[in-house]
Order: sequence, then C-alpha cells, then structure tokens
Amino acid sequence: MQTETATKETVIQRWNKRPLIISGPCSAETEEQVIETATRLANTGKVDMLRAGIWKPRTRPGSFEGIGAKGLPWLQQAKRLTGLPSAVEVATGKQVQDALHFDVDVLWIGARTTVNPFSVQEVADALRGVDVPVLIKNPINPDLELWTVAVERVAKSGIKQIGLIHRGFSSYGNTEYRNAPMWHLAIEMKRRNPDMLLINDPSHICGRRDILMDVAQQAIDLDFDGLMIESHIDPDKAWSDASQQVTPERLNEMLGEIIWRKEDIPSEEYHAMLEKMRQQINQLDDEMMQLLGQRMKLAEKIGEYKKANNITILQTKRWNEILERAFKKGEKLGLSQEFITKYFDAVHMESINHQNKVFHS
Ligand code: PEP
Ligand code: MN
Repeated sequence: MQTETATKETVIQRWNKRPLIISGPCSAETEEQVIETATRLANTGKVDMLRAGIWKPRTRPGSFEGIGAKGLPWLQQAKRLTGLPSAVEVATGKQVQDALHFDVDVLWIGARTTVNPFSVQEVADALRGVDVPVLIKNPINPDLELWTVAVERVAKSGIKQIGLIHRGFSSYGNTEYRNAPMWHLAIEMKRRNPDMLLINDPSHICGRRDILMDVAQQAIDLDFDGLMIESHIDPDKAWSDASQQVTPERLNEMLGEIIWRKEDIPSEEYHAMLEKMRQQINQLDDEMMQLLGQRMKLAEKIGEYKKANNITILQTKRWNEILERAFKKGEKLGLSQEFITKYFDAVHMESINHQNKVFHS
C-alpha cells in the first residue's frame, strides 16, 4: 500500500535525523488531549515523533495505569492530522500486538521492563518477524549488563533498528534529580554500541521542569543523538508525571535555546589546534604512567621492607593520611573529591597488589 510505504520511509528518515526529537504526554488521557498536543507539537516544526504512554507501569497501586488500547486510535488520528509518527511503551506480548495493530511506528521498552529478562524476552518474542524500530530505556538500577542483554534479546528477535534511551537511574539519598543521570553509564553504553542511536530523556531524570534545560544541554554537549521530552497541553493537570511536563510552546522555546553541537566540523584550523592539544594530553598521560610505574616500584620496595620486619601490608591510618593530603592538594588544583577518591582507590589497590606479589615471592 502506497501510504503505508510512505509512512515507513518517513519513520526511517526521522529515526536517522539528528537531533531526533520525540515529545508528547507521559500518558494519553483523552482523544482531545492527544490531538491537541500533537497539533501544537507539530506547529513547533521541531518535533519528529509523538510519544504517549498507553499502558503505564506505576509504582503505586491506584495511580492512573494508562488508558489502554482504547487510546491507540487517537494516535492514529493524530498521525493522520499532523504527520507525526507515534511512539508507545510496550511491556507485554499483547501490548506489542495491539500497538502494531493500530500502526504505532516506534515501540519502546520502559525502564521497569528492561530490568526483567522475562518481560524483555516476551516483548522480543512478539517482535519476531516484525519490522519496527525499538528504543530500549536503561534499567531502573545502574546495571549496564541488564541494558546490554535487553538489547541483545531484541536484536536476536530480528529487529534491525534499535536505539537507546538514557532516563537516569534510581539511587538512594537525596539528589536534585528524580533519577540520577550517572552519565558515565550512558557514555559506556555508547562506547559499547557506537553506531546505535542514543537519546536522552531529561523528563524522567529531572522529575521537575525547572532543571530540564540543564540536563538536555548536557546530553547534547555529550553528543547524544536526540531528546525525548514529555509535554502536555496543561502540565499541572496531567494524570501522571505532572511536575516534569512542559507545554508544547515551552518545549519549542527550550529547543530554541539549546546550543546544538556537532561531533566534528570540516575546518583545518580547528583540527590542527585540537590535534596539538591532544598531543599535549598524550604527553601528559605518558608522564603520568611513568610516574605511576615508579610509584608502584616504590610500593614494592616498601613491601619488601614490611615483609622483612614482619608487619602487615595495610595500615589504615596511613591510608587515611594519604587521602586527607590528596583532598587538600586536589582542592587547590580543581580536582573533585569524587575523582580523588576513585583515583586513589585504584592506586591503592594496585599498590596492595604489588606489595602482595612481594609478600608471596
Ligand atoms: C515514561 O516514559 O513515561 C516512563 C514510564 O518512563 P520510564 O520507563 O523511563 O520510567
Ligand atoms: Mn512519564
């Protein structure tokens, strides 16, 4: 069918567009709300796909659990009126079938589903033989293996277009975020899957609209391929995630304010300058490795001395002293306590291993 082919092409084109912008309500609530959101989003000229939660995995019983399959024709209608392809979260085989039956264009696996290999497998089985792009959100807990095996399960079912959504990780303790971004995990996932689409979901990271811009900008600075941001025609009245949603017009402003960066530019001067500074970095890295090698040699010497005098490898007091010194010195050099702790943990472990070798030789 002509129209269906055209739609598939549009979806692929948009999937490959950078930055890829997906927006829409946390939940589809009413037909009017879906259509009005889609229309106002399409009017911005900056949004590529319409998202809407149809089935909502909620933490608390009694919360709104989604409108269900009855909302799927609303997305079809929104697409007819605005041309925006639709993206919906699926968590079961039946949801996959229903979504596909109503021509949902992109499916995504939510954070609560990625943690559960049974559910991911059920979704993957329902996807066998189907040609539809699938986005996989990071699992709620900071576990890259779970994210990776979810990707593997979906890939094994034959899905060719797979993308990743970074939506932050739940963590104990008060942070300013609803879900801590833990950017290093998203960066590592990108390193493992360099050609895979990676988009950021600032809405679920922030949980509040006042800091969305900062997170979105940070994602773009880190070369993410796009953003998924929740929007609602009347955010405060949203049936779910009210405090993090923005109006389509506010989204338009935000997208206008973000400084869009490229991974590269074709300027010789820029490349020459960058290359020069990178050489300097390499030189410093070499020197640091030399120093670390010398430090470990010294640790071995100390190990021999401790062994000869029959004392333990570890002296906790000394270790605290090293850290205290490093914090003081590091502060002056602009190094964070987090970095110093991680660095010295690694150095300390390596040092103990070297001394261990001496003790057992
Ligand atoms: C959502 O996108 O509305 C959602 C439930 O997200 P997550 O799976 O990231 O919690
Ligand atoms: Mn939500």
